[in-house]
Amino acid sequence: MKIFAIGLNYASHNKEMKRTFEASEPVIFMKPDTALLKDGKPFFLPDFSDEIHYETELVIKINRLGKNIAEKFAHRYYDDITIGIDFTARDLQRKQKKLGLPWEIAKSFDNSAPIGEFISKKEIPDINNINFRLDINGNSVQQGNSGDLIFSFDKIIAYISRFFTLKIGDLIFTGTPAGIGGVSINDRLEGYIEDKKLLDFKIK
Ligand code: MG
Repeated sequence: MKIFAIGLNYASHNKEMKRTFEASEPVIFMKPDTALLKDGKPFFLPDFSDEIHYETELVIKINRLGKNIAEKFAHRYYDDITIGIDFTARDLQRKQKKLGLPWEIAKSFDNSAPIGEFISKKEIPDINNINFRLDINGNSVQQGNSGDLIFSFDKIIAYISRFFTLKIGDLIFTGTPAGIGGVSINDRLEGYIEDKKLLDFKIK
């Protein structure tokens, strides 16, 4: 399976990253399957970074094979949704960006993609109005709403599938809103869609 992630997909986050323009097309990057972290397993702070940031994101799971999917049909290509963290080694990312080099080591390292339990989108009244949030040690640190996405789920699926064949089980991290920040040893991260806790793990 493949993991796609979308960068710069909320205006509020772009602002905090001091981006002065918005992309006219989705910004895509990928993580390998070794980035997945599931079932509440702990995340071990890696030795190559002193600045691991959380980015809380809605994650959709592809449920059928597709290529060149039209936006109007894209909603048929996913049923399940959860919350995930796009862990980022911000210090490495800054360094790579400065050098104009690819980001992979900052974004796609082992366990950089924790995901929660999936729920069916049928449980969600309006896909364009999903509230989600991350709590760290019981305090809300980041909140978002899918209505603020620059590129909707359907637009993302249509765009990705022009370049990559989507397969059953592929995941798409759909971007982070404002409020990113660092994690420290012993932090407990809990991710919610509306009032439903889907993600719960610790930093070790
Ligand atoms: Mg992200």
